[in-house]
Amino acid sequence: MSSRFFCSSPIRSSQLTLADAEAHHLLHVMRAHAGDEVVVFDGEGSEFTARVVRLKRASVELEVLERRDVSRELECRLIVAAPLPKGDRQRWLVEKLVELGVTRFVPLMTVRSVARPEPSALDRLRKTVIEASKQCGRNRLMEIGEATQAMEFFAQEAAHDLRLLAHPAETPLLEFMPHSVEQIQLAVGPEGGWTEDEVTAARQAGWRTVNLGPAILRIETAAIALAARCALPF
Ligand code: SAH
Repeated sequence: MSSRFFCSSPIRSSQLTLADAEAHHLLHVMRAHAGDEVVVFDGEGSEFTARVVRLKRASVELEVLERRDVSRELECRLIVAAPLPKGDRQRWLVEKLVELGVTRFVPLMTVRSVARPEPSALDRLRKTVIEASKQCGRNRLMEIGEATQAMEFFAQEAAHDLRLLAHPAETPLLEFMPHSVEQIQLAVGPEGGWTEDEVTAARQAGWRTVNLGPAILRIETAAIALAARCALPF
């Protein structure tokens, strides 16, 4: 059971209040008492030891005892862009990307997946990011970007980035990982695949196409496999 708590406003003083789902978690799941100590993070990079001072019906007041700058982040920024898979698979994808240390997830709109994700779906995914961060110990929240057209995403300025487009056609497997890049961007296509025009536009904008093996993977498998390949230190 998770005993880390997320505070949605930046922690700047020695008092903090948990409300809503976090208060519910502390009050009714953890059954906290005054005097208990818990770990709280606000998504900006630090974590805090805090003591429960006052329990109210729907909120909990805590006193901050200690602030620690603990980074469980990757050395380089990792951005993953993909169309949202259907149903529960999108929550699963986001949870795993958080665990792997991805900095930002961008929901893509492509020629073969034109639906714009509803803002409510993106809000649900932001809640998933918080849950996953509580569980895995990250003190910075993975950003969920706004829905973006693939062509627009490919063309964004990023001179020094390594940019990899997953494409099952006859493209080489990713053989090496440069050590000195500051940011890696990954793009995965829709179940219907990228169009020729999309692949051409990406290549012209400096994206390298990479193959992930002989089988056709679902969006979330391709995204996680590629993110893991870039995130893990081997
Ligand atoms: N029928 C489509 C497959 C789409 S799978 C096609 O032939 O292109 C959804 C996305 O996952 C693809 O657009 C690609 O980005 C990624 N993907 C799936 N399997 C892959 C593989 N073996 N190599 C590279 N990318 C893959």
